[in-house]
Amino acid sequence: MSESLRTVHAACPHDCPDTCAMKVTVDGERIVRIQGDPDHLTTHGALCTKVSRYAERTDHPERVLTPLRRVGAKGEGRFEPVSWDEALDDIAARLAAIAARQPEAIVPYSYAGTMGLVQGESMAARFWHRLGASRLHRSICAEAGGEGLAATYGGKLGMHVQHFAESRLILVWGSHSIASNLHFWTYAQAAKRAGAKLIAIDPRRTETAEKCHQHLALRPGTDGALALGLMHELITQGWLDQDYIDRHVEGWPALRELALQWPPERSAAACGLTADEVRGLARDYATTAPAAIRLNYGMQRVRGGGNAVRLIALLPCLTGAWRHRAGGLLLSASGWAAPAKRSAWLQRPDLLAGRQPRTVNMSTIGDALLHPGGAGFGPKIEALVVYNSNPVAVAPESGKVVAGFRREDLFTVVLEHFLTDTADHADYVLPATTQLEHWDAHTSYGHTWVLINQPAIPPRGQSRSNAEIFRQLATRMGFTEPCFQDSDEALARGAFNDSIDHAALWRDGWTRLPVPDAPFADGGFATPSGKALATPLPEVVLNHECQEATPELAARYPLAMISPPARHFLNSTFVNVKSLRAIEGDPCLEMHADDAAARGLADGQPVRVFNDRGEHHCVLRVNGRARPGVVNGLGVWWRKFGRNGTNVNELTHQQLTDLGQAPSFYDCLVEVTAL
Ligand code: SF4
Repeated sequence: MSESLRTVHAACPHDCPDTCAMKVTVDGERIVRIQGDPDHLTTHGALCTKVSRYAERTDHPERVLTPLRRVGAKGEGRFEPVSWDEALDDIAARLAAIAARQPEAIVPYSYAGTMGLVQGESMAARFWHRLGASRLHRSICAEAGGEGLAATYGGKLGMHVQHFAESRLILVWGSHSIASNLHFWTYAQAAKRAGAKLIAIDPRRTETAEKCHQHLALRPGTDGALALGLMHELITQGWLDQDYIDRHVEGWPALRELALQWPPERSAAACGLTADEVRGLARDYATTAPAAIRLNYGMQRVRGGGNAVRLIALLPCLTGAWRHRAGGLLLSASGWAAPAKRSAWLQRPDLLAGRQPRTVNMSTIGDALLHPGGAGFGPKIEALVVYNSNPVAVAPESGKVVAGFRREDLFTVVLEHFLTDTADHADYVLPATTQLEHWDAHTSYGHTWVLINQPAIPPRGQSRSNAEIFRQLATRMGFTEPCFQDSDEALARGAFNDSIDHAALWRDGWTRLPVPDAPFADGGFATPSGKALATPLPEVVLNHECQEATPELAARYPLAMISPPARHFLNSTFVNVKSLRAIEGDPCLEMHADDAAARGLADGQPVRVFNDRGEHHCVLRVNGRARPGVVNGLGVWWRKFGRNGTNVNELTHQQLTDLGQAPSFYDCLVEVTAL
C-alpha cells in the first residue's frame, strides 16, 4: 500500500434511513476507495450500489465546477462561466434590493439533497433568519407520516433497526427495503434465516415483496382501512394485550368502537384484498412474538397518509409488541437525535429578532411561484434560492412548477453539482462541493447513531460548500454578527451537545445515542401523559382522487398511479450517473397484464400516460409488478431524460395530506394509451 494513502471518516449524506458510516481512502487528491465502515454496526461494511459509485459522481465530466450565469432562455440550460466575485456581488446586490423592500419576496428552497446539519441548514438558515426571508415548510417527503407518528408516540421515535434481526414476524409495510433501506433488509434477512415470517404490504410487487413469504398488494391509500380491519380481529379474537392498553394507551374505548365497524370483509373491500388475507394477517400479527413493523414513507403519500400512520402505529400498542426490543414499529428514529442536536445554535432563529415571515410550502411551489401576491399569501415571490433540491423534477404538478421557474421576473440562484432540470432554469448556478469535499455532521432517521463527515479531498474545480457560499453572501450583505464567521469545521464540531460521546465520534466517525433497547416496553411515550395517543380518534380518509371520492374523474381516468423511486436512483439524485441510468433503462410505467390487455397494450411499447394536468411518455412494462387498477410510474427521472421532456410529476397534483400539509404523490388518477 502506498505511503501516501489516507483514510478518513465520512457519512453518506443522502435521503436514506441507513445513513451509512463510510471510509474514504484517498491518494493525494485521488479517490482510491469508498467503502462502508465495517466497524459501524448497521453499516456493517456495505454501501448500496448507488453510493458505491460516489467517485463516479464526484468526478463526473458534467459536474459544474465554476459559477455560471445564464445566457439562454430559462430552462434552456445555456450559461457562461463567471468569477465567484462577479456572481456573488450580483446575487447579493439583487437580494439586497428585494430585501430592502420586502424580504419575504425571497424564498429559500432546500431539502435533503444532503441530510448534513452543516451543509443542509446551518449557515444557510442563519442567513435566511438574518435576512427575514420567507420560511419554507419542508414537507415534500415525510411530513404526513412524521406528524402522524408524533401525534401517536409524541415524537418521531421507533425501534432500533438492528433488533429486527430478532423479530419472528416482520411486516414490511410500504417499504421497498432492498432499494431504499438496504441495511434494514440485511436484518430482515437474518430474521428470515432464523425462521421469521416476512410479509410485504405494498401496492407494487417490488423485489422486496418477492423475497417476503407473502405479499399483500393493497390499493394505494387504503392502509388505514387495513389497520382497522386488523384491530377488529384483535378485538373479536381476544388477541389484545389489555394490560398494556390499560396502562399505556389513551383513547382506547373510542378506537375500539371504531375498529368494531371494520370487519375483515369491509377492510378487504376497501383495500382490494380478500377477507381471508386480512384475517390471516391479523392472526400472524397477533400470535407471533416478537412482531415488528417496518413502516416506510411510501404509504403516507396520499390524502389520508397521516391518519393511516396513526392507525398503524397503534397496532403494536394493542398487542403489547413494544414489550420486546424486537417488537414494535419503525417509521422514523430521527426524534431520538433531537435532544443531542444544537439546532438553535446551528440555525440561529433568534436572528429573526421577533419577525414572523410567512411560510411557503415547498410542495405547492408551482402554485406559489405563479401567485400574483396578495392577502393570505403575502408578496409575490421575486427571488428563489435553491440548494439540496431539484424541485423542477421532484415537486408535484410539474406543468405549474416549470411555468413558475420560467417567469422572466423571477431571480433564481441554484447551488448544485450538475445542471439538473432546476439548474437549467437558474440565473446563476453556483458549484457546490460533494460530501467528499466538505465537513458535515449527521443524524439518522433510520438508526440511532450520530456521525461525522470529514473532507477527503479538496473541493474540485472552484466548488465551494453551501455553508461557505452563504458565509460569503452574508459578508456581502453586511451581516456582521460573529456567527457568520463560524467555519464549516467549527459548525461540524459544534453540532452536538455533551449528551453524546465526542471522543468516540471523532475517533470512530460515529457514536451511539443513549436510547433504551426496548424504549416503550413499559410505556413512556413522549406524549404529555406518557401514553400512546388514540386521541383525537384517527380515521380513514379517502384519497383525493378515487372512485369513491371523485367518480366522474375515475370514469375518465380509471387507473391509480403511484410513483415509487426507481431502484438505482435516490429521489432525483444519481439519474445522471450513466452506469446507474443504464441499469434502469428508460422511464417506464408498470401495468397489470389485464389492464394492458383491456387497452390493447403490450410490454415494451411506448405509451402516453395522461390526465387533466398533462401527459408523460414512457415505456410500458407488463412485468408482474403492478396490481390490477394501479400503475407504477417509477421516479424520479430528470425531465430532460424523458421522451417528451417530462417525468411522472407532470401528472401529480398539489393537493395536500390530512396531516403535515405534505404532497399526495401516490393519490393520482391517470389513463394510458398507445403512443
Ligand atoms: S444511500 Fe443509503 S444505503 Fe446507500 S450508502 Fe447512503 S445511507 Fe447507505
